[in-house]
Amino acid sequence: MFTPVPLPQQLQACANDPLRVLVVGAGIGGTTAAQLLRSRGLHPVLIDRMTTLKDAGYMLALMPMVDAAIDELGVRDSYVAASTHIERYRVLNHRGQTLREDPLGDLLNVYGDYRGLSRGALLDVLTADGAAVSLGTTVTALTDGTESTYVRFDSPEGDVEAMFDAVIIADGIHSHTRRFVPGGTAPNETITNWGGWVVWADADADTDLGEELWGDGFFVGSYPVSGAIGAFIGGPREDTCVGPAAFVDSIRSRLTSSTSRLDAVLDAVGAAQDPFYWVLDDVRTRQWAHGRTVLLGDAAAGFLPTAGIGAGMAMESAWVLSGALTDATRADVGAALTAYESAQRPRVETAQKNSRQLAGLMFRRSSVLAHLRNFAMKVMTIRSALGPIIALLRTPARVPEVTETVD
Ligand SMILES: Cc1cc2nc3c(=O)[nH]c(=O)nc-3n(C[C@H](O)[C@H](O)[C@H](O)COP(=O)(O)OP(=O)(O)OC[C@H]3O[C@@H](n4cnc5c(N)ncnc54)[C@H](O)[C@@H]3O)c2cc1C
Repeated sequence: MFTPVPLPQQLQACANDPLRVLVVGAGIGGTTAAQLLRSRGLHPVLIDRMTTLKDAGYMLALMPMVDAAIDELGVRDSYVAASTHIERYRVLNHRGQTLREDPLGDLLNVYGDYRGLSRGALLDVLTADGAAVSLGTTVTALTDGTESTYVRFDSPEGDVEAMFDAVIIADGIHSHTRRFVPGGTAPNETITNWGGWVVWADADADTDLGEELWGDGFFVGSYPVSGAIGAFIGGPREDTCVGPAAFVDSIRSRLTSSTSRLDAVLDAVGAAQDPFYWVLDDVRTRQWAHGRTVLLGDAAAGFLPTAGIGAGMAMESAWVLSGALTDATRADVGAALTAYESAQRPRVETAQKNSRQLAGLMFRRSSVLAHLRNFAMKVMTIRSALGPIIALLRTPARVPEVTETVD
């Protein structure tokens, strides 16, 4: 569990560390990195702009690239207890008929576990031994220097200033903090013009089943977590602007068939009061490491949801980054951050490219293309659709050697 503490208290605990590290953003990547550094004896300062982190959030399906971080934190048992194994993946065509069902779990189990859990449950697992965090806190100035990095905070205690040896920017896809580093300004984006609603539905008997309907101008996905189903319904923004209930009605009018899962998901979205609307765009920054600052997770490369891999890659990157930093001295932080970027950026961008390719198949309005896609889906294997990501799992991430020192 997170333990909210005033910022000055964290600064004091960190002051005598051999490496004074700031982590901006207590999300999936930032929390994983902070907890790994803490497990190695450091006291990184962890901040988040939220004033509470108790929300369960949305569903996450986590691929085996998270296993290294989970195991190193020693939370495997609580991770398994808080999540559900995902074994089957079913695809429906644009009229609601089942096209295929694949043993996705079998394919991924060769490399590790494939599990579903809520974002809140994952953060609880990662912070099981306690995790100091300063809430309601943001960075208002950051100046990178050769000897250290100056940071000014806006916090409930007022304006606070501090010096750090390394700053990890992990404040998500819409990061405000990356504007302070050269690589974070003006990132590339994929604008899909699609968006949709994320809701929770009641669990059903198919606790190991993820189901997706790839429509002509709509998408419906449902993914199991422990005790519930996370659901998403999306479409072109010009169509979803009618609101969830009317958009659900328009989907229903286009279906000739359905599954009990699909019915339940449509009901849940139709009945939801003011559900979270997710804009389906992604972000790719040009450079992650600069001096003593570095981007992590969605702040470095934010994902479309199509491959379900953003959190997995954020945790993998956090494991690599904290490994590179663990042996770094104050003098070679810059080299450690550069080594992390060289090792991890190609992997993350490969996964992001895979997600973009799938978006090109999924986010379609034309029914002619939907028919062609239905045919292709019958012959295409799940292994080929996720080929680049499977290749990443086959050659797991490594903590890089830090060979240079900064001037
Ligand atoms: C609906 C949905 C479903 C998803 N499903 C999957 C899935 O099935 N599998 C998967 O692998 N990935 C999935 N993802 C993607 C995944 O959630 C992200 O890739 C992952 O959370 C990225 O982690 P992060 O730490 O970079 O960012 P986040 O987890 O978003 O954390 C960012 C943190 O920074 C904080 N913050 C923001 N601004 C500031 C600021 N200025 N100062 C301080 N703190 C700030 C936020 O409050 C937040 O706590 C999904 C995403 C969504 C939205």
